[in-house]
Amino acid sequence: MTMFKALQISKTDDGQKLDWVELSEKDLMEGDVTVKVEKTTVNYKDGLAITGSSPVVRHWPMVPGIDFAGTVLSSQHDEFKKGDAVILNGFGVGETHWGAYSEVARVKGDWLIHKPENISAHDAMAVGTAGYTSMLCVLALEESGLTPDKGPILVTGANGGVGSVAIALLAKAGYEIIASTGRPEEEAFLKSLGAHQIIDRSELSEKGRPLGKERWAGAIDAVGSHSLANILAQTQYGGVVACCGLAQGFDLPTTVMPFILRGITLRGVDSVYASKEKRIKAWDRIANDLDRDILASLTREIPLESVIQAGHDILDGKIRGRVVVNIS
Ligand code: NDP
Repeated sequence: MTMFKALQISKTDDGQKLDWVELSEKDLMEGDVTVKVEKTTVNYKDGLAITGSSPVVRHWPMVPGIDFAGTVLSSQHDEFKKGDAVILNGFGVGETHWGAYSEVARVKGDWLIHKPENISAHDAMAVGTAGYTSMLCVLALEESGLTPDKGPILVTGANGGVGSVAIALLAKAGYEIIASTGRPEEEAFLKSLGAHQIIDRSELSEKGRPLGKERWAGAIDAVGSHSLANILAQTQYGGVVACCGLAQGFDLPTTVMPFILRGITLRGVDSVYASKEKRIKAWDRIANDLDRDILASLTREIPLESVIQAGHDILDGKIRGRVVVNIS
């Protein structure tokens, strides 16, 4: 029987340990589609799983890795057949179901989508769950009526995965972008992605007033906490804010004032259990709209063996843009 390599996290009395293990298909968890994983990536949640700094893993042992692009090896699912190119994001993969840091994965076909033909497996994982979440945020802003003529859009966590891809997608759609970052030395990089103005994240990160000067028509926020409260307080009348992350904190110490005096809309964005229809829409739009040169400029590739270090780095805020993990 063919063996393949995977990273496994096990629970110990002292916390958790990580081991490189050899598995065979019979070891894999239940599912109706078996996939040869070609590319995956390192998301913030993968960093949490690898370091054990937050209880994202809820089944032991676990193969981490919340997303992948690969080719179907075998399928009992109606929509997929051997040789199909597929993408997976979320659905608890890498948390409750063995995930992407493995040369082979078995998942439910209902969790998969066909990879659009006009995006490579490498580029799909350069986008990854972070970038697909950015696209869900852009779609949420548009569904709530935001258009480029309404005014500038703020993107927080600008150098991170969600933020950097959000800037590239918004720039392509014609928005004026204000990028908030704790790494102002990356101004040239952020401007190369399409940001027009850079602000220091310290402007937003402390407790602020319930309402402030109206500065932006909308925002994509990957940060939460006081930053999100200040973003809401400084969003112009009728504006829309998409909230998807908690890099500063999961609290939201805001007031009702932005909502009842300025009619602001706060849109929550979840990528993990988004409907298949939304996933396909987001990935089609990414495949058609995202500038590949810009994507390449914010992406670097690492081998599977380097994911442990990358998991630590992403939590330490040391990763700029996106990391593709080459499995095949
Ligand atoms: P990254 O680590 O790549 O980026 C996060 C960025 O946030 C950092 O690069 C940094 O940007 C900024 N940041 C870090 N710490 C702080 C802080 N204390 N205060 C303010 N800003 C900070 O992560 P991702 O972009 O992949 O994910 C971002 C967030 O979105 C995470 O919380 C993640 O869990 C969440 N997420 C949610 C999803 C969903 O389905 N809702 C899906 C994917 C991600 P800079 O250096 O520019 O300041």
